[in-house]
Amino acid sequence: MNIDDFRTHAHVFSDWMADYLAGVEQYPVRSQVKPGDIRSQIPQHCPEQGESMEAIFADFQEKILPGITHWQHPSFFAYFNANSSPPSVLAEMLTATLAAQCMLWETSPASTELEERMSVWLRDLLDLPAEFIGSIQDSGSASNLCAILAACEKASAGRVAQKGLASGPPLVVYASAEAHSSVEKGARIAGIGSENVRAIPVDDNYRMKPTALATAIAEDRAAGKIPACIVACYGATGLGSIDPLDAIGKIAQAEDIHLHVDGAWAGSALILPEVRAAVRGFEYVDSFVFNPHKWLFTNFDCSLFYMRDPSRLVNALTMTPSYLESQSGEDMPEYRDWSVALGRRFRALKLWFVLRSYGAKGLRAKIRNHIQWTEDLAERIRGAENFELATEPNLALLSFRYVPASVTSDAELDQINAELLRRINDGGKLYLTKTRAKGRIVIRFVIGQTYTTWQHVEDGWHHIQEVAQMIGRLEIRD
Ligand SMILES: *Cc1c(COP(=O)(O)O)cnc(C)c1O
Repeated sequence: MNIDDFRTHAHVFSDWMADYLAGVEQYPVRSQVKPGDIRSQIPQHCPEQGESMEAIFADFQEKILPGITHWQHPSFFAYFNANSSPPSVLAEMLTATLAAQCMLWETSPASTELEERMSVWLRDLLDLPAEFIGSIQDSGSASNLCAILAACEKASAGRVAQKGLASGPPLVVYASAEAHSSVEKGARIAGIGSENVRAIPVDDNYRMKPTALATAIAEDRAAGKIPACIVACYGATGLGSIDPLDAIGKIAQAEDIHLHVDGAWAGSALILPEVRAAVRGFEYVDSFVFNPHKWLFTNFDCSLFYMRDPSRLVNALTMTPSYLESQSGEDMPEYRDWSVALGRRFRALKLWFVLRSYGAKGLRAKIRNHIQWTEDLAERIRGAENFELATEPNLALLSFRYVPASVTSDAELDQINAELLRRINDGGKLYLTKTRAKGRIVIRFVIGQTYTTWQHVEDGWHHIQEVAQMIGRLEIRD
């Protein structure tokens, strides 16, 4: 393809992009295809002769689009959002065009220097400790892994990176039973192993019990193990629970254990002073992650990972073979030493576009709405017959259950709620996911999509009630 053709297609595509975003509500939120539907339309082998972009683009619309779940649909209330926004998409177009690989300062100074600045902007917007130094990782999972690696470096005084875990007593990671699975996965990757991850019990509100944490640490010390890392949840994935950071922090400090806070989803809400004011204990925190790609209108992938002392991580990861020796700005970080992969995308650009385009005020207004609408929805659910709020809102996440009076057994209620969820998602009007609370199936409702309005939330709630009523009628007929 020559550059003139590229220009022509880029214009066509940008028109399509605007049309798509303007009309995204016409699609079912969750893709309605069956397994294999897409694969069966893709030839088994690569074409020998190149094809025209018209043909490729037509296939994209015809064959690929039906197999897309529309994450930018305003009725996407499932998982946590991976929200995007027009300024973010525009920046991604530029990033894709530059296609710079930003592993070293020298391989694109603007990437390193903008990343450093954006980390500071966000640190200050979230009112994080002034000593925190940030980097942009590809995912919350990678940030959690980096936190564990940094913790191992500290707990073993550098031994693990050089001699391996087998050279000493086992290291142990502590996280609540509600913590994201990437914490245990990170412990596996780091060589710590699932059996050395303690799932600390939670209280009635799904928050880590500090006393249980202290007990677990004491037991491990008595058994000759090395407590290496405590992971506290700021907005756990299942139900959004927020661990008592202050109490956990005091334990971490007294025991001299690296304290990491996983705020992958909820961290973005800290740009609201009223949310930030409710959090005590950041002075004890050694590292913190939040994903602007979840709730700050920035395209996946973009995860901000902060450390009080980056040398813990950098000492664990630095490698400088001669082919990577490069000219470097004096006090410039070489971010390749801050993450698992060597190669790095220019992720700071989209963040810069988003933060400037919305401004702090615009971002706060959107997130404040999401939290308010979640409260308003909770009020509706409390007042509805045959429904109950399973967990109170944690910021913009609540969970509920359908509890028709005719059904009393827990197992049957689980079945009915799973069926309700299946029908809602098959209908394509909105998209929800489930989790378990005290062993029972509950349906999660997360508000965080860029284009969501209260009307979408209200329409969604009415639709849930309609589908539930239909299930009720089927039951009576049986
Ligand atoms: C989503 C999530 C993660 C994982 O983030 P990825 O960027 O998808 O790897 C980690 N922790 C929590 C609390 C999350 O909600």
